Amino acid sequence: MDLDGKVAIVTGAGSGIGYAIAERFASAGASVCVNYLGYEDDAKALAQKLPKAMAFRADVSKAADVQAMVDATIKELGSLDVLVNNAGIERSMPFLDVDEATWDLMLGVDLKGAFLCAQACARAMRDSRRGGSIVNISSIHEDVPFPGYTPYSVAKGGLRMMMRNAALELAEHRIRVNNVAPGAIATPINAKTLNDPDKVATLQTIIPLQRMGRPEEVAEVALFLASDASSYVTGSTYYVDGGMVRYSQPL
Ligand code: NAD
Repeated sequence: MDLDGKVAIVTGAGSGIGYAIAERFASAGASVCVNYLGYEDDAKALAQKLPKAMAFRADVSKAADVQAMVDATIKELGSLDVLVNNAGIERSMPFLDVDEATWDLMLGVDLKGAFLCAQACARAMRDSRRGGSIVNISSIHEDVPFPGYTPYSVAKGGLRMMMRNAALELAEHRIRVNNVAPGAIATPINAKTLNDPDKVATLQTIIPLQRMGRPEEVAEVALFLASDASSYVTGSTYYVDGGMVRYSQPL
């Protein structure tokens, strides 16, 4: 699995899964645009550390920011072959309490943001006639309900259908589109859980592999889908969850 000569944008790459993906793509030979909104220092330090990289601040929920990021990547790194839609936020709130502002924020980043990035990158990939690969980091909650997290689950479920539609519409341009659906991965988004040993223990009981995952384990699957190793794969979701999505107990 290599990305020699390829250029990738990884959104939300200043921390967690996005950081690991940017590092892994660079070690596979890619030039990387390390997008960030938070974690500015980490994103800039990562871009400095990687052999061919740039850091770019953009709020993925803003169309003008996204277009500026795509234009700057092509100008500075020479082309665009891969997008990883990784940026995301998570808010816990009972269904009956979800307010309009929370709904708009969550759907704006986790779903609209991914759409804006996919569309802007796909247009550039079409124009370059080089083909491309779009990888969305969704969640097992693109499929499994998540009580207390309705906007998050709705956004991830939407990402599943965006991926399937885009895979069909973009195939004629040799642009593949797939999702990586992580289970419970040890990153800052799970800080509350990680700081509570009882919660971690309970969580591990519903993960067949009996542990949380590492960002690097998600990055390996993202690399597979970004690279030509997956040249005949499009319109699919790959779970990286230690079997969590299939968890079931005998009666
Ligand atoms: P994280 O909080 O470390 O990463 C999210 C990143 O997105 C952060 O760097 C944040 O600054 C960035 N971001 C947030 N809003 C943004 C915006 N508007 N524009 C640009 N960047 C923005 O957590 P993570 O676990 O690495 O999350 C990465 C992705 O993986 C998310 O989409 C998340 O939903 C998904 N995911 C994570 C888990 C898990 O257990 N960690 C499980 C399933 C899915």
